[in-house]
Amino acid sequence: MARYTGPVCRLCRRERTKLYLKGERCFTLKCPVAENSDRQTRAFPPGMHGRDRQRQGSEYLTQLREKQKARRIYGLLEKQFRNLYEEASRRPGITGTNLLQFLELRLDNVAYRAGWGASRAQARQFVRHGHVMVNAKRVTIPSFRVRPGDVVTLKVVTRENFNVKRNLDIMDRSVPGWLEKGDDGFAVTVRVVPQREQIDESIREQLIVELYSK
Ligand code: SF4
Repeated sequence: MARYTGPVCRLCRRERTKLYLKGERCFTLKCPVAENSDRQTRAFPPGMHGRDRQRQGSEYLTQLREKQKARRIYGLLEKQFRNLYEEASRRPGITGTNLLQFLELRLDNVAYRAGWGASRAQARQFVRHGHVMVNAKRVTIPSFRVRPGDVVTLKVVTRENFNVKRNLDIMDRSVPGWLEKGDDGFAVTVRVVPQREQIDESIREQLIVELYSK
């Protein structure tokens, strides 16, 4: 499946907020969106006229930006994101919450939440390259949706990988309540489908629903 391969800090600048797309660097002063960035903060849209661009106050723009932000955080292209929304809207329950649950249950996101990847992009690469197993079977599809009871593990040889070790030691992310760590952090079990309050991304999903249901 296609993915965005351009510069990612540009995406944060477009949203004027940190989306944490680069892992460790996002927590340093090198982040161009950081308040006290090494260089002058560049929390304004990219491009020649980004600095001069004023925020329009339209309702549509607010909804659009929220959707773009969510899409970029999880690394999806428009078509995939839209399809996920359609599926979420067909399910019983609150569409916005369903959508976020689908995003969280993606295999690349679980690998990220487990702390193996410094960013979702890196976690996605681990999945693509066959380093992640679900119930002892290799799964190479980042969008694979895990279910409660599934056990997601990192391949034994990959556990010695420098990046994985570094991410587990340095990033030291705690797993959310809907996952349970095991096997020295190299396995996670999906306990339940995450509830909205267990998803810590600052996304106003209602705005996305409003945008797509126009
Ligand atoms: Fe975004 Fe991270 Fe780049 Fe900062 S360093 S702009 S948070 S991707």
